[in-house]
Amino acid sequence: MLDKQGRNIDYIRISVTDRCNLRCRYCMPEEGVQQVPHDEILTFDEILHLARIFAMAGISHIKITGGEPLVRKNVTALIKDLKKIPGIETVTMTTNGLLLEENLPALADAGVDGINISLDTLKRERYNELTGTDGLGQVLSAIDACGNFPQIKIKINAVTLADFNRDEILALALVAAMKEIDVRFIEMMPVGLGRYMKGYSQDEIFARLTDALGTPEPLPKGTGPAEYFRFPGFRGRIGFISAVTHKFCGSCNRVRLSSQGFLKTCLHYEDGTDLRSLIRSSMPDKEILSIIESTIKNKPAGHDFGTEETAGHEKKIMAQIGG
Ligand code: SAM
Ligand code: SF4
Repeated sequence: MLDKQGRNIDYIRISVTDRCNLRCRYCMPEEGVQQVPHDEILTFDEILHLARIFAMAGISHIKITGGEPLVRKNVTALIKDLKKIPGIETVTMTTNGLLLEENLPALADAGVDGINISLDTLKRERYNELTGTDGLGQVLSAIDACGNFPQIKIKINAVTLADFNRDEILALALVAAMKEIDVRFIEMMPVGLGRYMKGYSQDEIFARLTDALGTPEPLPKGTGPAEYFRFPGFRGRIGFISAVTHKFCGSCNRVRLSSQGFLKTCLHYEDGTDLRSLIRSSMPDKEILSIIESTIKNKPAGHDFGTEETAGHEKKIMAQIGG
């Protein structure tokens, strides 16, 4: 459906949990997130119920996220059921990759269309320092295992951090040279703990890559926020998702559903609609649909990251808002 700005909103990120098995420094506090009572988290039946209504509102693409989605038991069964909803064209997932390899056969069987794997460093000690876990080997092994499932589109998402992984920009990009995998550099956003961190801008990363690899061919933009390039000889693409320095709000096509059923139309603001109370009140679907449509219609025109005015700005971390 079109929002007030004329943008076609056809994509939702659905968080299935706020919890995570990693503690990435820019995302998750060391003590983790505050435990939410079990009955405040949407059940799979409730997620499916809402997804059917979202499909009626014109949503055709779903990304399963978290927290870490693979820590929630049976998430593959949820994906299988989401894939059966009329109007839903793709169901994808974003994961830190720690539990991915053992789940790959079930994910393939569920019909998952794509998997984004978050990976910010290829150095074991650094990975430990960044995430609090000695898990790099597991993630790299999962990426290799993805080669057995060519029907699943794999992307690697890397966040850069100032004075931390600048020297790995080239090595991370080179993963896309060797494999048919897209590597995307995500700019650090001032959301959650990211408010206290600094990363490298798209232009800085682009300059580093062109110095080493030559001039890439710009590729047509898809429906998502990424800008893509193909470097000479590369099998996969290099992408940039740069919410701060290459603001893409004018073409933003997405909304988010938190694990507690809160519909958010922009990452940057606290506003949204509590859908959990609506489905638990047995409100007819037609009425819920109309509330969802009016929430989406009023999606803010854009974020204002970088302004001094912070009233109404989201303080929660990415894992709590379907990052
Ligand atoms: N745990 C899963 C994962 O890591 O892919 C899914 C949830 S995680 C919140 C989704 C993505 O958000 C990850 O790629 C992570 O690097 C990114 N992220 C978290 N905080 C961020 C921030 N402040 N700025 C930019 N990206 C951030
Ligand atoms: Fe967990 Fe993903 Fe946040 Fe890292 S980025 S702490 S893996 S939710």
